Amino acid sequence: MARRNFAKPDELAPGLNYIGGEWLPDQDGVLIESRNPANTREIVGRFPRSRGSEVDRAVMAGKEAFKSWRLVPAPQRGVILRKCADVLRARKEEMARLMTREMGKPLVEARGDVQEAIDCADLYSGEGRRLFGDTTHSELPNKFAMSIRTPVGVCGLITPWNFPVAIPSWKIFPAILCGNTVVLKPAEDTPACAAAFVKALEYGGVPPGVVNLVQGVGEEAGACLVAHPEISLISFTGSSAIGSHIAEVCGKNLRRCSLEMGGKNAQIVMDDADLDLALEGALWGAFGTAGQRCTATSRLILHKKIKHVFVQRLVRAAKALRLGDPSDEGNQIGPVVNAAQMERIEGYIKIGRDEGARLLCGGKRAKGMGLEHGFFFEPTVFDQVTPGMRISQEEIFGPVASVIEIASFEEAVEVLNGVKYGLSSSIYTRDVNRAFHAIRDLEAGITYVNGPTIGAEVHLPFGGVKNTGNGHREAGRAVLDIFSEWKSVYVDYSGKLQKAQIDVES
Ligand code: ADP
Repeated sequence: MARRNFAKPDELAPGLNYIGGEWLPDQDGVLIESRNPANTREIVGRFPRSRGSEVDRAVMAGKEAFKSWRLVPAPQRGVILRKCADVLRARKEEMARLMTREMGKPLVEARGDVQEAIDCADLYSGEGRRLFGDTTHSELPNKFAMSIRTPVGVCGLITPWNFPVAIPSWKIFPAILCGNTVVLKPAEDTPACAAAFVKALEYGGVPPGVVNLVQGVGEEAGACLVAHPEISLISFTGSSAIGSHIAEVCGKNLRRCSLEMGGKNAQIVMDDADLDLALEGALWGAFGTAGQRCTATSRLILHKKIKHVFVQRLVRAAKALRLGDPSDEGNQIGPVVNAAQMERIEGYIKIGRDEGARLLCGGKRAKGMGLEHGFFFEPTVFDQVTPGMRISQEEIFGPVASVIEIASFEEAVEVLNGVKYGLSSSIYTRDVNRAFHAIRDLEAGITYVNGPTIGAEVHLPFGGVKNTGNGHREAGRAVLDIFSEWKSVYVDYSGKLQKAQIDVES
């Protein structure tokens, strides 16, 4: 069969699916449109709205490629990842600019997003020469024992729009390093970023069928991927509602499933804290990426002795943040991603007001020159928030910080822990004993001391406790446990039948 490759060789983000090493249009020809959230008149690109048939082709391409990819030595797989890192480095700026146009995070943050993918490729490229198992002594003589990691098969990866290159990289690089092949279904809000990322991997030399990309919407392409019988594993990052639905489907089919979901992260500021530092952290944590990070600081738990002055300074600084076109480097806050997100945030402003919280600043769409065609929302601070309010409990995913006053360290810990999520947490204090108590007692997958709730690095485990996840960790070495199966190997060189637990007693 002649190869059909519909992408132009120099295209940064083809408006096509990538299946079995070919850039192909969807058979139905139905498209989704990606628009710039800072200026919705600008179309970033059109991408296939794929259905089950495309998902099926991609999974079968992954299954075919798995036969040979799983046999490529891991160090050689690592070499390909290193080449991918080089391509990403070379394209960092154009990919970051595309990301800013497509989902609205300021350019400096978009560069960080691509950088995270580069870090990730570097990390797992080295892991190709480790991927260690254990060797150990058998309890029987003349017998050898070891454990090795083996790949799982074709992995279905479903990703959100808020880290449109970094999150796919957290999943794809360790997955393929372990010898798996993948089908990526990225968020419908950021198809161009996903296409650009996969295109970079193609240039990096990832063989055909090892990474497949199917564009489309969640209920269609996403749902088909989750239900596909040839998928061995689903790795999902997104909302708790969808995650729990995916877990149900995977549970029924006895399929491996790792979920990374919501957060209601908090920053504690104690009375002995460096307030300048804590303020800087709060601004970055609450309003960076317009609050649309799963680790965003949505609650500020402030000691009563410093609360008044801290809130005054916070409000002044929040009002001074420069909102506007995120591709203009002078601006600090870009738009939120789409109209639905805007409405959701507006909904929570009303909920907060109705619950009796006091709005100190923001709380509304930003108006002004150049903002009229985008989804800009003013940085918002609610005061007099109590731990039980919905704005204290539910994930808002917007530039909204809720201030809760506490009178002691113990109360701060209780408030921070009093939510159903447990992703990230932070405490500002100069008291080392208190810091270690916090590390021990905060119910979260991540704790920062004297740093904001955001800023994870790729070589440490990432994930959360309680309803944030289902017990897995991405990044670091921990992610290898998602993307590989352990096999225990015994080699008996005694030349006779030896019986464990029977021939020996202790
Ligand atoms: P967010 O609120 O961050 O957009 P979602 O959970 O809605 O989070 O979406 C995260 C990812 O899950 C996206 O790629 C989306 O297309 C996908 N998705 C949404 N619904 C489903 C579904 N029913 N089955 C599989 N994937 C889905």
